[in-house]
Amino acid sequence: IESHIIMDETAIRRALTRIAHEIVEKNKGIEDILLIGIRTRGVYLAERVASRIEAIEGIKVPWGELDVTPYRDDRIETAETDCAKQLKMANGEVTTRDKKIILFDDVLYTGRTIRAAMDALMDCGRPRMIQLAVLADRGHRELPIRPDYIGKNVPTSRSEEIEVALAEMDGKDEVVIIQN
Ligand code: 5GP
Ligand code: MG
Repeated sequence: IESHIIMDETAIRRALTRIAHEIVEKNKGIEDILLIGIRTRGVYLAERVASRIEAIEGIKVPWGELDVTPYRDDRIETAETDCAKQLKMANGEVTTRDKKIILFDDVLYTGRTIRAAMDALMDCGRPRMIQLAVLADRGHRELPIRPDYIGKNVPTSRSEEIEVALAEMDGKDEVVIIQN
């Protein structure tokens, strides 16, 4: 098995700082913005970008976590799709109505997880818009989904895999590409 590091701690830190600036610039501020991370590693990305935006703008931006499991298209049984169970904001606020949502995930691949996430968010109240931020885009989309903010474009073959380590749960920050 061959593997090499494509983002080290410094590269991840810089990419997230850049994305924080891009979010503020593209949205002309942070009014009505919610940062929502897809479990598990997307949540840490949303939280980190929230603290960077606070450092840049001096205002707290709400962030939270979304569990898309019940909304996945590969699930067989009909799941209970109660928004409040799937979406948890750090400050307790739950409605997404009229909000500008920035979704965060670690790796973007086929796009099916993001489709499920959009479905879940719609059940929580119609957002004004949804944008997408990912740490790594590995290509191979199967749906018309494209990220607005990208840490790194990583053209991969189907046999390659990306391993994302984040300090909060993995003890270090690192993105590695693995050739299986
Ligand atoms: P998709 O639904 O776009 O096919 O896959 C994206 C989801 O699966 C993300 O939540 C991501 O965490 C996970 N994923 C897909 N491919 C990879 C990969 O190569 N590495 C990692 N770490 N996660 C992946
Ligand atoms: Mg994931």
